[in-house]
Amino acid sequence: MTTMNRRQSIAAAGGLAVASLAGGAATAQTPDRKMGYAIVGLGYYAVNVIMPQFKNCQHSKLVAVVSGDPEKAKRLAAEYGLPKRGIYSYDNYDSIKNNPDVDIVYVCLPNSMHAEYTIRAAKAGKHVMCEKPMAISSAECEAMIAACKQAGKKLMIGYRSHFEATNLEARRLANSGAIGKRRYFRSEHGFVQRDPSKWRLKKALSGGGSMMDIGIYALQAARYMTGEEPIALYAHEQTDKNDPRFTEVEDMIEFELEFPSGVIASCMSMYSANQNHYILMGDQGRIELEPATRYTGNRMWTGKDGRETEVTSPPGPGSTQFAGQLDHLVQCIRENREPIVGGEEGLRDMRLIEAIYRSAREQKRITL
Ligand code: NDP
Repeated sequence: MTTMNRRQSIAAAGGLAVASLAGGAATAQTPDRKMGYAIVGLGYYAVNVIMPQFKNCQHSKLVAVVSGDPEKAKRLAAEYGLPKRGIYSYDNYDSIKNNPDVDIVYVCLPNSMHAEYTIRAAKAGKHVMCEKPMAISSAECEAMIAACKQAGKKLMIGYRSHFEATNLEARRLANSGAIGKRRYFRSEHGFVQRDPSKWRLKKALSGGGSMMDIGIYALQAARYMTGEEPIALYAHEQTDKNDPRFTEVEDMIEFELEFPSGVIASCMSMYSANQNHYILMGDQGRIELEPATRYTGNRMWTGKDGRETEVTSPPGPGSTQFAGQLDHLVQCIRENREPIVGGEEGLRDMRLIEAIYRSAREQKRITL
């Protein structure tokens, strides 16, 4: 078993060298003041995953919450020691422009609300972190990019895997030539969606089914593990329309991506089975992650033709991928550079997802 030092693994990610995670050099030139985040939409991900992570951040702090539920907002504001001026509703959200504590708005709402709340944040003069999927259409993504550009504000998408130690090490290994010439990538991402009343199953709020929600991790990983952009794709949907959960959105969608080097990626997205896995095969070996993109506990193996060597990273203080993501945007604002997963990255995925849906609908291969 190989033990990987977290700092080494991040530094080794080369172009991805996330200064905020690496500490040291970044801290020396960093002003003392942490930048303030306002979280919009106090649902599962915001409350249980993101908000507790600010204590692990070097450059970010929570300063405000925006919610349609005043009691919940008040309770969480008290829990996190936020002042009264840090509590907003969707109705008075735009007045956030008058709050100098708020530098960044983090949009954690259902997918169909991402565009509106991002654009309103930009108009209020705030930088934006927006959850994945960036929006529900490429036209919305383009409008979000334009609004942030016009306001002179940064836009980043919550692609946390780009800050996760196991995924960073997997990328480093793939790019180092450790498995030879990359030939084939496979990923299955899914979870069982049980409650038909959830917004994720309502097309007007979600924009689509498993592909928008969890398949996007397979799509992302196919792109960052190959380091290439697909030139063609083919998709096939399998949904039981008699199942009350899937009257509006897809359950399973299988998509194959063709890359310029000849690499094929074969991916499955689903709402009817739990799976979180990817494998990259080269002509001299393979890199396999399972689970691959979870909040914690991701595992990786390398080998010639099987899971021969487990490569582990020691647990950091808390879930470092989230703190890394939050601090990265702050660093980009301070240094006036583009986030490694900015609006253009979200738009790229959305265009691919649209092509995947079209391919499945028309049952034909699509050249990109
Ligand atoms: P939840 O349903 O748990 O929370 C969504 C919140 O949005 C609600 O609690 C509510 O907050 C607010 N909201 C406003 N209008 C509506 C509406 N019409 N219907 C439902 N909620 C509404 O969703 P999640 O937290 O799981 O997901 C939120 C976003 O985060 C999604 O875009 C999702 O894709 C993304 N996500 C990303 C993850 C990641 O790992 N990067 C993981 C999980 C989710 P309030 O009551 O405060 O108004």
